[in-house]
Amino acid sequence: MRQQQGVTVWFTGLSGAGKTTISRAVEKELRDRDYKVEILDGDIVRENLTKDLGFSRDDRDENIRRIAFVASLLTRNGVIVLVSAISPYREIREEVRQRIGHFAEVFVNAPLSVCEQRDVKGLYKRARAGEIKNFTGIDDPYEQPQSPEIECRTDLEAIDQSVIKVLTYLETGGYCKPSLSAVTTG
Ligand code: ADP
Repeated sequence: MRQQQGVTVWFTGLSGAGKTTISRAVEKELRDRDYKVEILDGDIVRENLTKDLGFSRDDRDENIRRIAFVASLLTRNGVIVLVSAISPYREIREEVRQRIGHFAEVFVNAPLSVCEQRDVKGLYKRARAGEIKNFTGIDDPYEQPQSPEIECRTDLEAIDQSVIKVLTYLETGGYCKPSLSAVTTG
């Protein structure tokens, strides 16, 4: 049986940048179009697959390696995988890219000040108060992608614009077909 070509779309960026918001919206659109799609969300993965890991560089890299392992299995079985994880280190992101092959990096980019203002989960406040250590952007590094396939400036773009960027990438790459409504409405 011929199946769709899988791909991993890897959303990286600071906490609160918009990774979960955009990936969920992309997921919904793809499901509506009947594609096999799976989300691996950092927060959920850390409660299950990587519960034993902390936030040192080694643990963060191991977290990413395990997510990538699952993503690679799904990708080679025709699933569109949406990974939403801070993934602050460039080197491991490159390792993952090589390993998975059909891979697109999405830099979900908003300035720290904007993410901190949003403070969706109240974590920045706690990190500034010293209650959380090794918090990315505060007292832990975030290495920005140098040549991501897609960049979403969520401080400047509407959510829909970011979603369309990702869908257009998937359509152009042949991972999904343009939706009929998109074609007819121009
Ligand atoms: P992350 O998964 O990167 O930690 P979330 O998606 O959980 O980030 O939170 C991002 C927050 O920013 C949400 O409350 C979302 O509604 C808000 N937001 C505002 N503008 C945008 C935008 N253009 N794109 C994505 N999220 C946005």
